[in-house]
Amino acid sequence: MMEDKICIKCKKYINPMRLKALPNTKTCINCSTVGAKSGVPVMFGSKDHTWTDLVIMEEDEFKAFKEREKNQNKEDE
Ligand SMILES: [Zn+2]
Repeated sequence: MMEDKICIKCKKYINPMRLKALPNTKTCINCSTVGAKSGVPVMFGSKDHTWTDLVIMEEDEFKAFKEREKNQNKEDE
């Protein structure tokens, strides 16, 4: 759904890398300013075609991201 990719606060498109790391996020990073932000290296792509990019997220988002990553690793094994 298109709506899912638009920030609920400013109605601008959310950075696709942020969405990839945090599919459930509802706000762009500019509007998501409650907590401390940090840049988290996130791996994109698969197999030989991977790259790492810095995705800015909040502490809560970072925790959610780590949880998701854990679950993904489980699925891969
Ligand atoms: Zn926004």
